[in-house]
Amino acid sequence: MKKAKLTGRIVTPNNTAYDSARENLNLSIQKYPCIIVFCQNREDVKNALRWAREKQVPFRVRSGRHSYENFSLVNRGLIIDVSEMKGIHYRQDKQTAMIQAGAELGLVYGQLWEDRVTLPAGTVYNVGLSGLALGGGIGMLTRQFGLTCDSLEEVEIVVPSGKCGAKIIYANRVENSELFWACRGGGGGNFGIVTAFTFRVHPIKNVSIFSITWGWDDFKEAYDTWQHWAPFTDKRLTSQIELSAKQKGIITASGQFIGTPKKLVKLIEPLLQTGSPTDRQLERVPFIEAVSFFNSPQGNRPLPFKRSGSFVYKPLPTEAIKTMKHYLEKAPNNNTTIWQQALGGAVDNYEPDETAYYHRHAIIAQEYNTSWDRRDEEQENRCWVKHVRKALSPYTKGDYVNWPDRNIKNWEHAYYGKNYERLREVKTHYDPFNVFCFSQSIRPFKTH
Ligand SMILES: Cc1cc2nc3c(=O)[nH]c(=O)nc-3n(C[C@H](O)[C@H](O)[C@H](O)COP(=O)(O)OP(=O)(O)OC[C@H]3O[C@@H](n4cnc5c(N)ncnc54)[C@H](O)[C@@H]3O)c2cc1C
Repeated sequence: MKKAKLTGRIVTPNNTAYDSARENLNLSIQKYPCIIVFCQNREDVKNALRWAREKQVPFRVRSGRHSYENFSLVNRGLIIDVSEMKGIHYRQDKQTAMIQAGAELGLVYGQLWEDRVTLPAGTVYNVGLSGLALGGGIGMLTRQFGLTCDSLEEVEIVVPSGKCGAKIIYANRVENSELFWACRGGGGGNFGIVTAFTFRVHPIKNVSIFSITWGWDDFKEAYDTWQHWAPFTDKRLTSQIELSAKQKGIITASGQFIGTPKKLVKLIEPLLQTGSPTDRQLERVPFIEAVSFFNSPQGNRPLPFKRSGSFVYKPLPTEAIKTMKHYLEKAPNNNTTIWQQALGGAVDNYEPDETAYYHRHAIIAQEYNTSWDRRDEEQENRCWVKHVRKALSPYTKGDYVNWPDRNIKNWEHAYYGKNYERLREVKTHYDPFNVFCFSQSIRPFKTH
């Protein structure tokens, strides 16, 4: 067999474009790869995997660059970047969309909207569909249509073959079905390089959106009302809440409802009757405007940050709410937040072992967020995330694999629960030599 050659757009440290080609969204973890190959098609991807294996060069797979821990980067290695493969092909007869692995969420929503269909995915435009879907994918349509991976029908994926080869295979409910199971929540970068996804899409037109803000004095009441309401209300309504640092002093609940404003006003009545809201909004808009409403421009801007998360399985007791408030009172700066998204609804339609995404019965996904400007602020921010996560751990479980955190010691259990052993079996079958390897990647069983 001929020796493998890298093909695609290649960037090395000598190129002026190196830094912009190299850097991910999280600037606090810098890595210096020796080559970045921007693949243009699946053959480039296959060549890159063969090349890395033949030369025994460490490599990582990258799409939207949003990994919290920059697991899509590696020092002195090869980055196999699929972000220039962005084709989206909608099939009306089958109500599916074939989406190449480099498409980011903003592009996906925009293009599918032209045919008045969509996917349940995340909120921030620049997040890569690849990383998001492989780990699950939550957003403002989750309670109605489920996780992003619940709409997945098939992946086209480049996997290792033999001692140093690579091959393109398909995984769906019939072919390579265990790999397909693993690609629905098992997380990115573990088994192979997805080059394209086929999703079932959902018709969409107008939606109703709302937002309610309270001041700091309403912290306990507003949060408590929201948590007892949001995961249990009409499943056409998905809602989130942001608890900001005391310096900012606001609590904002917002959400999207597939239905009329009249019905939405009724549904959010418990929130409207709580405390003294300082601001409220409710309107009916074309879905694509709602997508823009929930997009956070801040989330698209590279900056140093530390984030982590956990799941809430039953409403938090008063002690836990006091703990959240306490940590937000001593937050390192006013960018600090605890953010939560209500689950339940369609997420709960599956048992934890039906797909690799384990936390099916959680009612809330919770995130601890900090970011900073100056280097000397970093330690304080990192400590805050570590401590708030620990302080809330008696009331929470695990973490979402798409919000990875290097500080979590038993990450296997935190992300995958009882599914981890089965993921290892899939790994052993498709990547027995563990070439897809990073600090929190799924480990194969020893076979040789
Ligand atoms: C600002 C911000 C907003 C977010 N909003 C949401 C949200 O609304 N909902 C939600 O569920 N999550 C959200 N996330 C988390 C997001 O889902 C993860 O960060 C996800 O891993 C990002 O994927 P990516 O392709 O952008 O990142 P990358 O850094 O490129 O990749 C992430 C991981 O996936 C792997 N990977 C990438 N492409 C491929 C591929 N083609 N084949 C195999 N493996 C691949 C990488 O190796 C890496 O391990 C958000 C993250 C950020 C930073």
